[in-house]
Amino acid sequence: MKRRIFVKNASLTTLGVSAVGLLESYSKNSIGDNKLKVNEQRMVSRITEFAKFGMDDKGHGYRVAFTKGDIDGRAWFIEQLKKAGLDPVIDAAGNIIGKRKGKNQALKPIAFGSHIDMVPDGGNYDGPVGSIGALEVIDVLNENKLVTEHPLEVIIFSNEEGGTIGSMAMAGALTKEGLQQKSQNGLTMAEGIKAIGGNPDTIQSCIRKKGDIHAWLELHIEQGAFWSGSTYRLA
Ligand SMILES: [Zn+2]
Repeated sequence: MKRRIFVKNASLTTLGVSAVGLLESYSKNSIGDNKLKVNEQRMVSRITEFAKFGMDDKGHGYRVAFTKGDIDGRAWFIEQLKKAGLDPVIDAAGNIIGKRKGKNQALKPIAFGSHIDMVPDGGNYDGPVGSIGALEVIDVLNENKLVTEHPLEVIIFSNEEGGTIGSMAMAGALTKEGLQQKSQNGLTMAEGIKAIGGNPDTIQSCIRKKGDIHAWLELHIEQGAFWSGSTYRLA
């Protein structure tokens, strides 16, 4: 299958700018008149670098959750979060979470991110755009020495493509039966979660109740045909 090109480079910038714009709207006092710009080249090179995880000699992508490609890709992403000054943790469901302090720790966090596992030959953008876009937001804030009012969280959900497992666990909807279901690579969800550093026995510890997160944003490729057939500009 040919890799699909969903977005031109210019659109990647638009996506990143939208994320920064959202933070600006929530943090006017912190960011003020700064004209923040994402580094398009950095995003493109990270997306390209990331695409190699799970890719075979013929260029086919296979980063199904809990496989070597997924595990190696997660390790790379965790490393990037550390370089960005975050102290990433793995929650009980295997979600990767990087927190950045806000000026007002009493406020609930603004969270953003996506997933980095993929369906076979899912292309370079489904998941990584939102994940690397989230990383880019942190880098841009760091480079501009800006601290937002709200704490921030970069969240990378585990096994999104094999049953929205990480996000379901966080929503409190992953049942004991669900944990025993087989994932695409043959492990049960519980075994897979263990393989990526989570702990199915304490799965409830990752639950976020309504109100625990102030806002959630995920940049994601279009999966229908609405925007591609539209002349509406996102930014
Ligand atoms: Zn996706």
